[in-house]
Amino acid sequence: MPRNPRSNRRSPDLAPLLAAADPVPDIRLIYFSTASAVTSYGALVEIMDFAQPRNGERGITGILCYGSGRFLQALEGERGAVSDLYRRIAADTRHRDCQLVDVSEIDVRAFPEWTMKVVNWDSGDSARHRALLRADTGAVVFDPSTMPAAQASAFLLHLAELERELAAD
Ligand code: FAD
Repeated sequence: MPRNPRSNRRSPDLAPLLAAADPVPDIRLIYFSTASAVTSYGALVEIMDFAQPRNGERGITGILCYGSGRFLQALEGERGAVSDLYRRIAADTRHRDCQLVDVSEIDVRAFPEWTMKVVNWDSGDSARHRALLRADTGAVVFDPSTMPAAQASAFLLHLAELERELAAD
């Protein structure tokens, strides 16, 4: 009987190709939000005491910058884990108006050593921090709502580099 070219049966020739296919890459998700009236930096530290071990269990890394009542956060990890966490975070009443800034597939994590690095811009904005913000965004006040995706991403990457340098001093 002649072979039906439209057969749904998987050709054995495809098996090595499918086996070699890349797994789904990790993603980096960046969003910003506005703190609710009761959320202070102290409350944020409490949130992070809870969040950091949980992120560790889920293989999530990232950075969270808080300043002038705004949050800018990057979450890195497996696509499903990051999506699930973002849903939980967006529903949290301790902040509001979560807006996605960027979601990208990544080959390499930018914040691999931090289950969630927290930077308090209101108290930690040294001259070097201010220079970084000016260089990356042109602004003098930390306001992620005005940052396009590429700017927000570069700012968080450079902020991480600065925090590493400061920690090493
Ligand atoms: P539950 O613990 O069931 O809580 C449900 C809701 O109750 C929360 O959404 C919140 O609105 C409220 N709630 C819970 N605890 C308190 C409290 N102590 N005081 C007041 N209200 C409360 N979680 C992470 O795991 N990883 C993160 O990186 C992370 N980043 C965050 C960044 C920001 C800016 C904020 C505001 C929260 C963040 N969280 C993070 C916390 C996250 O929003 C969830 O609260 C947490 O993941 C628990 O999720 P859950 O569905 O189990 O919520």
